Amino acid sequence: MTITIQRLSLRTRPLLNFLLLVFCLTVSTHGLQTAGNEHPTADLLSELIRIDTSNPPGNENKIAEFLSSRLRPLGFEIQIVPTPVPGKSHFIARLKGDGTKKPVLIAAHADVVGVEREKWTVDPFSGIVRDGYVYGRGAIDFKGGLAVFTEAVMQLAKNHVPLHRDVILLSEADEEGGAYNTTWLANSHWDLINCEFALNEGGWIMEDTSGHVQYVSVSTADKFSVPILVTATGTSTHSSMPTPDNAIYALARALARLSAYETPLELIPSTREFFETLSKVSQPPLSQDLDILLNSKDPTQVREADRRVSENPLLHALMRNTLAPVLLKAGFSGNVIPGSAQATINVRLIPDSDFDALLSHMRQVINDPNVDVSLASPDTPDGQRAAALLKLRSSLGPSAKDTALYRALQSSAHSIWPDTPVTPYLFQAGTDAGAWRSRGVPVYGVYPYPITAEDLRRMHGNDERVSIHSLDQGTELIYKTLVQVESE
Ligand SMILES: [Zn+2]
Repeated sequence: MTITIQRLSLRTRPLLNFLLLVFCLTVSTHGLQTAGNEHPTADLLSELIRIDTSNPPGNENKIAEFLSSRLRPLGFEIQIVPTPVPGKSHFIARLKGDGTKKPVLIAAHADVVGVEREKWTVDPFSGIVRDGYVYGRGAIDFKGGLAVFTEAVMQLAKNHVPLHRDVILLSEADEEGGAYNTTWLANSHWDLINCEFALNEGGWIMEDTSGHVQYVSVSTADKFSVPILVTATGTSTHSSMPTPDNAIYALARALARLSAYETPLELIPSTREFFETLSKVSQPPLSQDLDILLNSKDPTQVREADRRVSENPLLHALMRNTLAPVLLKAGFSGNVIPGSAQATINVRLIPDSDFDALLSHMRQVINDPNVDVSLASPDTPDGQRAAALLKLRSSLGPSAKDTALYRALQSSAHSIWPDTPVTPYLFQAGTDAGAWRSRGVPVYGVYPYPITAEDLRRMHGNDERVSIHSLDQGTELIYKTLVQVESE
């Protein structure tokens, strides 16, 4: 080949250059539209992104119909589960096994958060491919995962892999908000799911800037969200004659005290294992600080390490219950001192953590008899949700690692990224996994594509993207995982 080009170049260099130019232009124009046939997951992701499922309203039914058209011809049994909201459906595709073992569920949400369109450099709903990345809302969270899961199960069907278990692919509604999420689905149609274990969004396959995968974290538990009300009361009176017991001042003092309060360190076993892994793949001072947090008995040393590690908001959130004031409500008129003032604090709890102890710590810190700290009212949807979660909290604890699914994820990851540690992980936010975990189903979470810290910041942000190479590797990971789960 080289010889031919050299020979050609003697006489025909200008023609060759012209042809090369035409070729390159064709490739790059083509590259803007699609990833090409050799990257089916990326193509599928582009198509999913083009179906705008910003929630509200979600319109997840459009995804259900699209996936139906792809999966039904391959032999999947399809069920589209409508919700009371028109256009909002869950989609279930079942690839039948021989029934000797319980199904494996792989679940991805179809809805996405909205966009600030003017801040994007590309159309967020065009699924455009640029410089080796698929761009668009949901590329990471979680249409990328939906594309990976779908492509992996389609390969199972196309390759006629013998199955003991049914493989259930679920495309969900209302994960990003709304009443008809997986909790609704599990309550109303558990018979359609009833699986042994499940795969979901969650942990990270972290990649450094040189493309080296540092670790694979598989979430085995999620933190959960509880709204706490801090309510100050005082004398309601004319604003021309203020009294010392002003409710707004009392609330402001209470919030100032809470802002200086740090909840205690709580390293649950999955966080300990994650920190051990992170310590091995990081540089000092982080590696040393993590080591202190894990092993030191010196409280001063631990406190200092905690302070430094906590400068990273994600690591800070993994180590403790967090408090974040999110709403304020006080007053109704310019000449009336209101009788009460209220703040909503969004508390993110580690499952199993002692919630009542946290409430009493908050009361001690505020130290004011005119300020009450309580769970949001059971009359509100938020309050009801929180009360239900708190009741379930022990069953929302970490999923065990000694299952065929966790083992399969671990060994598939090792086959693709040899020597890369795989670690359990506490997910810092809530996901749709609670609906299954609360029914005793072990759930493992992963965003199934290597990702850099820089790209991670685009999630729910602007110019969200995922690389085609990562999607290919993710598809291999999930396909191998499912093949192994079926063979065990
Ligand atoms: Zn998500």
